[in-house]
Amino acid sequence: MAAEVKWNGPIVDNHFHLNRNGLFLQAAGEFKRVGGTDLILVHCPDFSSPPTTRKGHLTTYQDTVRMAEEVRKEHDLGVRVVLGPHPAAFAHQFEAWLQEDGEHGAERAMENYRDSIDAALELVHEGKAHAIGEVGRPHWPVSDRVWGLSNQLLEETMSLAHKEGVTLQLHVEGELESTYGDLAAMAERVGLDKQRLVRHYAPPTVSGDVTQGLTPSVLIGKGAIEEVLATAESSTHGFLLETDYMDDVRRPGAVLGPKTVPKRTQQLLDGGLDEAFLWKAHQDLPDFLYGPSE
Ligand SMILES: [Zn+2]
Repeated sequence: MAAEVKWNGPIVDNHFHLNRNGLFLQAAGEFKRVGGTDLILVHCPDFSSPPTTRKGHLTTYQDTVRMAEEVRKEHDLGVRVVLGPHPAAFAHQFEAWLQEDGEHGAERAMENYRDSIDAALELVHEGKAHAIGEVGRPHWPVSDRVWGLSNQLLEETMSLAHKEGVTLQLHVEGELESTYGDLAAMAERVGLDKQRLVRHYAPPTVSGDVTQGLTPSVLIGKGAIEEVLATAESSTHGFLLETDYMDDVRRPGAVLGPKTVPKRTQQLLDGGLDEAFLWKAHQDLPDFLYGPSE
């Protein structure tokens, strides 16, 4: 019988939210206690009233940057920060303003989206944030108008990411393989390196013919392990692991709890995954996408 090998390398959760009204530092502590070393902290929007000015966006982003600082100090964890307009918050505002104010409302919503990207970029330039996200398009049925404009803005953001050499974390619809194809085509049109497109909440199939050169960030629930093991060898450049932990007291442990990525990392190793994939998931890819741990 083969001796069990224990994973002693770094462990990155690639999509983790924290909330001052949730468990906050305690959640980060739980991740650390089971072997976690680095969080990719994704800005959590106020879905009920997202900011409507550039200054408003900057203020809420700055609080996420401060939360990252507090986690580093309290737990000696690495934290890299991802800031941007959440597609759900944005699309609802878009629909409301369009209804209220017609074309003028649509214009205003688009400007607000651009302001929120611009404010995020400012903090990236200052070295306080490390990527833009989560951005994307609505993952529920919307009017053709909203769908079209969402795609236009997404492509615009990809073009900006290309110019700035910055990574995008995407929140996009469905489990369908066609989504990857769509996004890959969009990236090609604007010249963006597809590795820099990280599909958050990705299904566990990571083979290159499905992911089309994008970087999948797999939501690593228990049921995902077998499929990751079955498709890892045919991936283009590996994959990331995430919980999409929301730190919401009304949904404790959702989407997956803070201890999940360390636990699944060991299970993947026990299941026979080549260690090289774990080094990619927990070191090489995060360093390439966000810069070194800090
Ligand atoms: Zn999220």
